[in-house]
Amino acid sequence: MIFYNPKKAILKEANLTAKPTTFGKNRLLNLLPSSQGNQFISHCEVVGLSLGEVIGNSGDLIRYVYFPTEGIISWEKQIAGSPSIVICLIGNEGMLNMRLVLGVDITPCRAVVQKAGFALRIASTDFIHQLQLLPELNLLVKRYTFVTYSQLLQTSACNLFHVLENRLAKLILSFQDRSHSAELHITQELFAQMLGVRRVGVTKAAGSLQRKNLISYSRGNVIVHNSKGLKAVSCLCYEADKEAYAQFLHLDVIKNDALLIALEGLL
Ligand SMILES: [Zn+2]
Repeated sequence: MIFYNPKKAILKEANLTAKPTTFGKNRLLNLLPSSQGNQFISHCEVVGLSLGEVIGNSGDLIRYVYFPTEGIISWEKQIAGSPSIVICLIGNEGMLNMRLVLGVDITPCRAVVQKAGFALRIASTDFIHQLQLLPELNLLVKRYTFVTYSQLLQTSACNLFHVLENRLAKLILSFQDRSHSAELHITQELFAQMLGVRRVGVTKAAGSLQRKNLISYSRGNVIVHNSKGLKAVSCLCYEADKEAYAQFLHLDVIKNDALLIALEGLL
């Protein structure tokens, strides 16, 4: 467990509804040994995440790395002539701009805040320096990058083969996991962006989930009534994503001595 020192925090002015009550609760950073976690956090600042805020655009030089503690950030990709599509959600289980660990300092897509909250933020140069100093952090970020890659592969297959209602159930569960609440604010437009379908398709699928008494959906507000039932309707990709995270980001894996020794030899 790592602890956050509020004296070192800089709270960015933002129009926020959430209170900064859960600093230091990024699940990824909590996998680090406490001494290394504390060292890393001493180089971070706390920033607010405002709904709709654009954190980076495709082609931008990466200036900061973010570890959300509350709130949700999405990756959006736009192909010329087509509307943008949301390809990934990042909550307090993850981080933004991990590709610095691969030696890439350009962002490939737009990052937008989909739920207001807070994040620990570190400058890119400091982050790269910490990667060199802390082997566990280096391994953790590389494994998180692999997990994200695996989840994107799963999503690619999911979008081709699984029906809309199953995908919508999976999406609501994924959003709920990152919101830590049964009451979600997701506009129909955002649903359509995340599923790559028209709004009428979202209305039809959401209506089906409502008739099964799994959710209520009205004017962008989703209330989950039955998570277990929603999991039964969701395609298996929901569990596959969770299993990938648990398999490769388990504490014992991060503390694997043989891996760390091999990694130290490369630094
Ligand atoms: Zn699927």
